[in-house]
Amino acid sequence: MTLALPFDNSYTRLPDRLFAAQRPTPVRAPRLLALNRPLAAALGLDPDALAAPDGVAALAGNEVPAGATPISQAYAGHQFGGWVPQLGDGRAVLLGELATATGRVDLQLKGAGPTPFSRAGDGRAWLGPVLREYLVSEAMHALGIPTTRALAAVATGETVLREAPRPGAVLTRLAASHIRVGTFQYLYARQDTDGLSALTDHVIARHYPDAAGPEDLLDAVIGRQARLIAAWMGVGFVHGVMNTDNMSVAGETIDYGPCAFLDGYHPDTVFSSIDSYGRYAYASQPRVAVWNLAQFATSLLPLMPDRDAAVGRFTALVNGFGDRFQAAWLAVFRAKLGLATSEDDDAGLARRLLDIMAANRDDFTRTFRGLADGTAADHVTDRPAFDQWSALWSARRTRDGAGPAAQEALMRRTNPAVIPRNHRVEEAIAAATQGDLGPFGALHEALSTPWQDTPPFADPPAAGQEVTATFCGT
Ligand code: AMP
Ligand code: MG
Repeated sequence: MTLALPFDNSYTRLPDRLFAAQRPTPVRAPRLLALNRPLAAALGLDPDALAAPDGVAALAGNEVPAGATPISQAYAGHQFGGWVPQLGDGRAVLLGELATATGRVDLQLKGAGPTPFSRAGDGRAWLGPVLREYLVSEAMHALGIPTTRALAAVATGETVLREAPRPGAVLTRLAASHIRVGTFQYLYARQDTDGLSALTDHVIARHYPDAAGPEDLLDAVIGRQARLIAAWMGVGFVHGVMNTDNMSVAGETIDYGPCAFLDGYHPDTVFSSIDSYGRYAYASQPRVAVWNLAQFATSLLPLMPDRDAAVGRFTALVNGFGDRFQAAWLAVFRAKLGLATSEDDDAGLARRLLDIMAANRDDFTRTFRGLADGTAADHVTDRPAFDQWSALWSARRTRDGAGPAAQEALMRRTNPAVIPRNHRVEEAIAAATQGDLGPFGALHEALSTPWQDTPPFADPPAAGQEVTATFCGT
């Protein structure tokens, strides 16, 4: 049986300077490692067909399914603040867009071989980052945070050279789209106003149908990013490479590289081994988002008839990110404290708790979860400071008036018990590298119900287990 997928490839109808036709490069011995059956089913795809030899051949890039128009997308970007006029999909092939029951989604193979945009890279991925992205993106989805999804992971039977020879793999990624701030920058840098206009119309039709033009689009993209970054902060997520080419204009979390979740809380936490100056540290993420959005605003300016007047309005919109982020952040942290009403000092109340945790790097997830369970004090090192805070919180909860049962229920659905702890992710990758997918499967399952306490996955790393560095080593 051949794999039938409902393709409708609108991106390839855009000006062809935005992409290069590119078929995936076949691999030696494809073997299915993971298939996201619930996701396939939710999209109206047949999981059994995907798991059958034809399906696996398609997921590995060995067969191009009927209806696909395989391309690699062009984009530019600021990497760690440095301008790179040409990046693009160096190892990803977009097979096309699927018209599914829940809307249009990109179907992309990551690690599918070299493309015109590969520069010095080999176009491949190894098992580690593929499984990391699979686990973390699916965890984000279970946490209710907009994200690209992982449909499948396939082993290639080939070796890729990184710090050492590693087993190769291909990730099948789904996204609302793979259009990035860097896609707009690519055209802006080439003074390609016609291209910008076509791309803008495409993005509006696809993601922001209510937007009347570029200015509305900017406003809406800023709004989605403000909510997205606030959601990240609420679960202790550190993206790690918030380059402009890794910011989706659709407002999804995209490009899981050296990302990780906080264990012990400290605002300056960095995991990525190459982020030497902490540009993308936990607490820097909202500032970086503004920086990236300023690049987006700049790229849209050529579309404005009265550019001088638009500069002022665009600047105000970008500067408005701060207030919109603050409002979103406060909504997230109020709920994490079990509060349904608002008072002036709620942000201060949340920040005081975070300061107490930061002083001793108390576990972020455990402490917040403990607020719901009445065990938070056990996870905070400075007990007197916590007790003082707790008295203020208690008084505030009384004024909130919803009652303990409702407040605890709210906290249990806003403070996850299970997050993709770095030591667990590394453990799953190490086992999979040895051919044992058991730990990956168990972790994936626990992550699918993050509001539920699933031992041992809710536990912070024990002494010596903590993994504090992640590597791009893609
Ligand atoms: P990232 O930091 O993963 O967002 O990647 C930055 C750029 O490097 C993108 O243009 C990627 O497509 C490209 N890239 C990353 N890894 C590889 C690779 N192994 N081969 C070719 N290009 C790559
Ligand atoms: Mg990227």
